[in-house]
Amino acid sequence: PELTNQIAAGEVIERPASVVKELCENAIDAGSTRIRINFVEAGLAEISVQDNGSGIASDQIDLAFTRHATSKISTQRDLFNISTLGFRGEALASIAAVAHVDLLTNDGSAVGTKASFAGGQKMHQEDAAAPQGTKITVRDLFYNTPARLKYLKSERTEILKIVDIVDRLALGHPEIAFTLTNNNKPLLKTVGRDNLKLDVANIYGRHLAEKMIPVEGKSSDFKISGLISSIEDTRSNRNFISLLLNGRYVRNNQLTQSIMAGYGSKLRPRRYPIAVINIELDPLLVDVNVHPTKQEVRLSKDKELARLLTETISKALITNEH
Ligand code: ADP
Ligand code: MG
Repeated sequence: PELTNQIAAGEVIERPASVVKELCENAIDAGSTRIRINFVEAGLAEISVQDNGSGIASDQIDLAFTRHATSKISTQRDLFNISTLGFRGEALASIAAVAHVDLLTNDGSAVGTKASFAGGQKMHQEDAAAPQGTKITVRDLFYNTPARLKYLKSERTEILKIVDIVDRLALGHPEIAFTLTNNNKPLLKTVGRDNLKLDVANIYGRHLAEKMIPVEGKSSDFKISGLISSIEDTRSNRNFISLLLNGRYVRNNQLTQSIMAGYGSKLRPRRYPIAVINIELDPLLVDVNVHPTKQEVRLSKDKELARLLTETISKALITNEH
């Protein structure tokens, strides 16, 4: 099982940023209102994510670290109706297969639980004082998979990838207060007041946030909301378009193209807006079970959505010009 866990881990956990993404998604799924992330040395030495969510009951911990065990879906039908960020039950098992993991959690009981894992095995578990929620600390990432270590980019690149993923999770969840620190040095802080503009200001700068205009549109199947820059920013490239489906950050070429079309990319070649676009839709319309990292999706009614996106964005920008 250790080998299969390591193989599976390779698909879910490519780099330190993958750990950050999976742990934060779990914290979001647990209903947290505050998530604190700290990492040391690009995340290879240590990554910790602390939340104030539901916590894990002491008798559920083994299950949480078992591959393909998830508390989020139970029937095959649920697989087509996913409203949580996680559902594959792979992340914790995968991380524990390639790192040392410490867990401190309390699900609202009088006393919490402390546990540690190494090489995919539980080493230790005991009662421990803990605040409501969960703190997971991952150390020595990829210590037992040297090939994975070699494949990583420079420390700077890995740090940028961590920051990028937390930026997008924060933009997708303005109701949650995120704090990201590197070696306890602050990198990002959002306030969690459900105010996207405030978060954009914290992430991209106040100057830019002030120049962003609201985007709103809907059809019977989709509700689009978000912000788009009305001015070009010299830093801007495709990466500054954040697309969220029901709060899940996804990559989708077709939808990005529709945003670009609404922005008038024909008139402004090689110019990209800064945009945060959240699309709410019936989970039945989107298949997120395409790839282990869950960033690729397949959509039903994708043409309808593409049209609505283009229309909504061009309308927002035209309205703003007048
Ligand atoms: P998935 O998210 O796909 O269910 P994971 O391996 O990421 O799989 O997590 C396994 C299980 O552990 C989750 O289904 C959940 O029950 C529990 N869990 C993980 N992280 C947290 C957390 N931060 N708070 C509460 N429960 C958690
Ligand atoms: Mg998960």
